[in-house]
Amino acid sequence: MMVYDTTHLIENKLSSLTDDFVAPSLVLEEIKGGKLKDYIDSIRDQIRVVNPDQKSLETVIRAAKETGDFDRMSLTDIHVVAVALMIGDATVVSDDYAVQNVCSHLHVRFSGVKIRTIRKEIVWKWRCTGCRKVFDEYVSRCPVCGHPTSRISVHTRDALSGDSQR
Ligand SMILES: [Zn+2]
Repeated sequence: MMVYDTTHLIENKLSSLTDDFVAPSLVLEEIKGGKLKDYIDSIRDQIRVVNPDQKSLETVIRAAKETGDFDRMSLTDIHVVAVALMIGDATVVSDDYAVQNVCSHLHVRFSGVKIRTIRKEIVWKWRCTGCRKVFDEYVSRCPVCGHPTSRISVHTRDALSGDSQR
């Protein structure tokens, strides 16, 4: 079972879509909003729409906050990972490093197509460039001294890849 993000649904040729292919409705809506409406209408019958349940969404949001990727993910990204988590035996296809990082954290299989997949799972934090205070969640400016923050990786471990089991 493959769960595709928007980029991959757009870029994959019609012939390469197989029947074990699913996407959350947010992915289809993103494409419908663009100039590819005719394309999506033509493959509509081949797409199985599966939307995540609340529990999966909450788990993915919590994981994304734990790794520090939350502010880099769209709602659609979160739905894509949550659908894979809910299905269980599924692979997320995405070239987005934040999506891959969160998948690894949740032991959800992932694969990239155009670029290499991540090798290290990263926990991101934000550090004030003034007073050096470190924040677990994204803040653009330090609430203590007002300086901007920069993103730092504070912990890494080998990422689980497309070959590993969840
Ligand atoms: Zn500061």
